[in-house]
Amino acid sequence: MAYVCLQCGKQIKDISNFVRCPYCGYRVVTKERSSLAREVSTD
Ligand SMILES: [Zn+2]
Repeated sequence: MAYVCLQCGKQIKDISNFVRCPYCGYRVVTKERSSLAREVSTD
């Protein structure tokens, strides 16, 4: 399942135990193929 970073908009295909954009370090991403833009956040 792919995710999209809400800050830089890049696709993140490989997410490990924690959700964080490898490009900008932002920690809020959304599931790309979801009708609901559900935010996934880790803190
Ligand atoms: Zn990002």
